[in-house]
Amino acid sequence: PKCGANYVPLTPLTFLSRAAKVYANRTSIIYGRVRFNWSQTYERCCRVASSLQSMNISKNDVVSVLAPNIPALYEMHFAVPMAGAVLNAINTRLDARNIATILKHSEAKILFVDYEYLKVARDAIDELMSENNKNSPSAKPMSLQSVIIIDDLNSPKGVLPGQLEYEELIIRAKPGFIPGDIADEWDPIALNYTSGTTAEPKGVVYSHRGAYLSTLSLILGWNMGTEPVYLWSLPMFHCNGWTFTWGIAARGGTNVCIRNTTAQEMYQNIILHNVTHMCCAPIVFNIILQANPQERRKLNKTVEVLTGGAPPPASILHQIERLGFHVVHAYGLTEATGPALVCEWQEQWNHLTESRQAEIKARQGISILTLADVDVKNMDSMSSVPRDGKTMGEIVLRGSSIMKGYLKNDEANSEAFKAGWFVTGDMGVIHPDGYLEIKDRSKDVIISGGENISSVEVENALYKYPKILETSVVAMPHPKWGESPCAFVVLKKMEGHNAETTTSAEIIEHCRKNLPHYMVPKKVVFLGELPKINTGKVLKFQLRAMARNIVSA
Ligand code: ADP
Repeated sequence: PKCGANYVPLTPLTFLSRAAKVYANRTSIIYGRVRFNWSQTYERCCRVASSLQSMNISKNDVVSVLAPNIPALYEMHFAVPMAGAVLNAINTRLDARNIATILKHSEAKILFVDYEYLKVARDAIDELMSENNKNSPSAKPMSLQSVIIIDDLNSPKGVLPGQLEYEELIIRAKPGFIPGDIADEWDPIALNYTSGTTAEPKGVVYSHRGAYLSTLSLILGWNMGTEPVYLWSLPMFHCNGWTFTWGIAARGGTNVCIRNTTAQEMYQNIILHNVTHMCCAPIVFNIILQANPQERRKLNKTVEVLTGGAPPPASILHQIERLGFHVVHAYGLTEATGPALVCEWQEQWNHLTESRQAEIKARQGISILTLADVDVKNMDSMSSVPRDGKTMGEIVLRGSSIMKGYLKNDEANSEAFKAGWFVTGDMGVIHPDGYLEIKDRSKDVIISGGENISSVEVENALYKYPKILETSVVAMPHPKWGESPCAFVVLKKMEGHNAETTTSAEIIEHCRKNLPHYMVPKKVVFLGELPKINTGKVLKFQLRAMARNIVSA
């Protein structure tokens, strides 16, 4: 029955209330000079939740936040759903236009903004307001009711009179707030926007149940014991820090928060606080490997690292492990609440050479516990490909980690869910030992430094450049970022037959004004025409091959 002693809705919020009882005096958060214990973290979250409720935030309302890995963003992972609402942590690398799109689509009621991001947030709100005015009188009123600033706990900058500040919510909250059971474990807990095959980002909804099960299975899949000291190198806005926001509370660990993922901040904090665990995209390995000698420190003990979000090259894995990091490789996507597969290590691989071990580790692995199944299919017949390590097919997933669905996007939902499976858009093979390896991507996404870039979005920005007739954007291998966007461009013909003239630098400059910086093409290639099939569709695979050749030339 859906009630009674044997049915309590699953939610990661219980990890915090338990941590407050079991680990009350243990350090929950370290951020520069700031320290909290689990009892204080619980109290602070209850107070924020209570204040949100007094601001009329209730069930299913979206609360957005634009902040780096600071204590407030961690606390909001509990405080917002405690108030019944849905947390929307926005990628801080986005520009004002993208942020405005997210605020509008999610119908966010409150936006929390770290002081460092006030300018971009203001620009986003101006954009929302001007769009609203344009559309009047039929436009819906703007859903955003309040903007709350998050000042820095280490070096407060101060707020202007009339501005609301996060710590004030904590001080002024009505005391006595006690979080109740949630009504239904399928209620939404978080909304994470991901850039995909479309120009507009898609809102991925997680349920309390999915978040709870994914958190537990990642703790188990990574063998994370109690009292981890966890360095926040992975942004919390990526799949809620791949669920470790909730997971560190479950393990009674310590969250070491850092504002910037620089080699210096990482090394300093690892040594000072005896960090045991961290997660990151493979780009962070490059940052660590390229640290200058003054920044680099010898690790006093092994740091366990879970990496994913982009393929980690075997040679990089090899180098990073030599510095004292022990890497576990995971594969996942926002739609699967982060890692869905982990490259679980087998005893019999211990005797292999280090470089062979790194090659094995570079495979994406096997499903974690809450994913009932992973398969590689031929999508025409929906039949499984042979497990021979050679036959390629599309990677499909099913299980409790899969998102509830995309918010207000029937078309994307019907493309993503097929015959009881979630279709990833990644192509791979399954080896005879059952381990999966990614070989390619069927979706048109560029993954640069672990961030997804929609090629359509970059193309749309390029089309705003008046001299461009046609363009197509594909991934190009990049030594630092893994991949970077490469734009193939056909210029307009002027009257007569001369083509317009422009330079790569001008086009790149145009993109810098119209896109978040990580989306800007690193290379522009001018062509007389784009390769196409007779229906007019651009042959992107040919362009990808051209981009690869340019890099290797
Ligand atoms: P995340 O926040 O986990 O990076 P995204 O939804 O932004 O999730 O990106 C997911 C995509 O990243 C996957 O569909 C896949 O193409 C790529 N990806 C993720 N992990 C790996 C990995 N370990 N190896 C290769 N590609 C990966």
